[in-house]
Amino acid sequence: MSKFFEIKELNKVYDDKSEKISVLNNVNISLEANKLVALTGPSGSGKSTLIQLISLLDSPNGGYYSLFSENNLFNLSDNEKSEYRKKYISIVFQNYNLISDLTALENVALPGLYFGKKSTECFLEAKKLLESFGLANRVNHSPKELSGGEQQRVAIARSLINKPRLILADEPTGSLDKKNSESVIELLSSFKNEETLIIFATHNKALVNKSDLELTLSNGTVNFA
Ligand code: ADP
Ligand code: MG
Repeated sequence: MSKFFEIKELNKVYDDKSEKISVLNNVNISLEANKLVALTGPSGSGKSTLIQLISLLDSPNGGYYSLFSENNLFNLSDNEKSEYRKKYISIVFQNYNLISDLTALENVALPGLYFGKKSTECFLEAKKLLESFGLANRVNHSPKELSGGEQQRVAIARSLINKPRLILADEPTGSLDKKNSESVIELLSSFKNEETLIIFATHNKALVNKSDLELTLSNGTVNFA
């Protein structure tokens, strides 16, 4: 039986005009669902590169990737990748990336609408999520009226609306203070389950301690702590 999440012999080389930079070199990772995984490693070690690859936003120079199935997701066409991502993979960014013209509620509902779900259902679910995140009285606010911690909670609610298999977060607490950082990671952690895996990149030791597993990138490879 293969694991829920499997990466084999993953390589990534950036080909700049003057030189080739080999960032990931034969990376192998296999993980069960129902885990909160911290991805660590010094700046420039390839954390964001790895997250881009496993979110299917970028293509590797070689490797195998399966999530919940046997197929190599890296072999999908660009259209199939974006369809797969829409259904199964969510990404949370350091700077929230909320749409400034939309309210908190609309931001959270949007991926559900893209997914093709009924709009009443999406808004109901979005409202429930925001309420459970303590944001009941912020649903009609726009992102600029919210604090950083509130914006990141909205972004996490948005990442959950389609019940993804994989939630990826690239330094999701990089712009937050200690208290908000910890509450954001606890919130993420509370959504892991038998059908969901969560991977977040971080520099913060206190947050690594809240995770189930630490993967460390160095010299292009991953070590399990
Ligand atoms: P981290 O997120 O751990 O700080 P990154 O994945 O951003 O690391 O970067 C890893 C390495 O790849 C760095 O040396 C960076 O300069 C290089 N790199 C990242 N993106 C590109 C790109 N688009 N083109 C060329 N080099 C890149
Ligand atoms: Mg990075």
